Amino acid sequence: MSNQLTVENVQLRRDLSLLLQQARRNEEIMRRHQRLDLQFIGASSFLELIETVFRTLPSSSDLDVVTLALLDPQYDIRRILAELRIPLSDFPHLLFFQEADEWGELREHLRKTELGVYSQQRHGAMFPEPITLPASVAIIPLIRNHQLIGALSLGSRDRSRFTGGMASDFIEHLASIVAICIENVINGERLKHIGLTDPLTGVNNRRYLERRMQEEIGRSRRQGASLSCLYIDIDFFKKINDSIGHQAGDEVLREVAARIKAELRLSDALGRFGGEEFIVLLVDAALPDAVMVAERIRAGVGETPIAISSGEQLNVTVSIGVAMLDSVVTAAEDLESIGQSFLARADQALYQAKADGRDRVVAAAD
Ligand code: GH3
Ligand code: MG
Ligand code: MG
Repeated sequence: MSNQLTVENVQLRRDLSLLLQQARRNEEIMRRHQRLDLQFIGASSFLELIETVFRTLPSSSDLDVVTLALLDPQYDIRRILAELRIPLSDFPHLLFFQEADEWGELREHLRKTELGVYSQQRHGAMFPEPITLPASVAIIPLIRNHQLIGALSLGSRDRSRFTGGMASDFIEHLASIVAICIENVINGERLKHIGLTDPLTGVNNRRYLERRMQEEIGRSRRQGASLSCLYIDIDFFKKINDSIGHQAGDEVLREVAARIKAELRLSDALGRFGGEEFIVLLVDAALPDAVMVAERIRAGVGETPIAISSGEQLNVTVSIGVAMLDSVVTAAEDLESIGQSFLARADQALYQAKADGRDRVVAAAD
């Protein structure tokens, strides 16, 4: 009898120790998940969030590949991120789609989490070349306010890692956190963007331009690349306001901004500096190129009358001052004061263009 009790006792102790081990393992897994949740929730910018998705998630959850697909029907997410100069090309695993129909047959299945062996036909949209192909996948729809906003795709080289019948609570929890965080950081970027945009014309505002000016001066100094600046001012703009009204003046401002923008490259920066004045920063452009762009802008504005909604056609011209950043700037000088004197030289050239009769381009002497 006592022998049997001893055997039972040993058995019970063994069971208990196994249970304890299991409990400790579960606790460790839960802690890991909580740490991951906190990292997602703590991400304060879009960049930080996608870095967590693509760097922390794969290593902490032992995944071979992770992709994040976002639906962006109006291109506005991409536009905002591009304008905030967030380097999306550094993240090939971040995929944008205009609509979920582009996901092919997966679209139909993605009402709930999709788990199983990878199939090119079914899952290919989430793992486009040259992304590593997984052997098994978990693809989780990202939903906010009952709306599909994208999908999080987890892939493993292990065929048995994700199987049809397995519990998907953890990954669904993860996806719901990711969905909330995405919405949150995108809203944050939207606000940043609004704070750097001129509401009337939709181009950048002064704050953006001053910041960008310092960035570009820093870059130009490091890389020895040229940087030029155009100071553009609409001629006799006050007359437009005074004769046909402020509303017409606003329309002219919008159209002039659009015509300036049409002459620029994506890497250049255009901003409304105030009133009827615009600044353009031309990256990698020396003075002769900058003068050429300025002439194109002058012609683009002046050669075709601007049609305003009241039906009138207005002949509008601009004067432009051009300056190039001094190639020898003292290392001691701070970016802000370099920027100020750079702008002052362009402004001085603009003043000359006005004095010479307007509707013209004047370059500052080196
Ligand atoms: P100049 O050829 O010497 O540049 O003459 P100008 O009339 O263009 O210059 P001035 O600086 O005298 O007038 C600029 C006008 O721009 C005065 C101001 O009322 C107007 N303005 C400033 N901001 C806005 C705006 O947002 N909308 C409109 N409609 N007018 C504006
Ligand atoms: Mg002015
Ligand atoms: Mg003016």
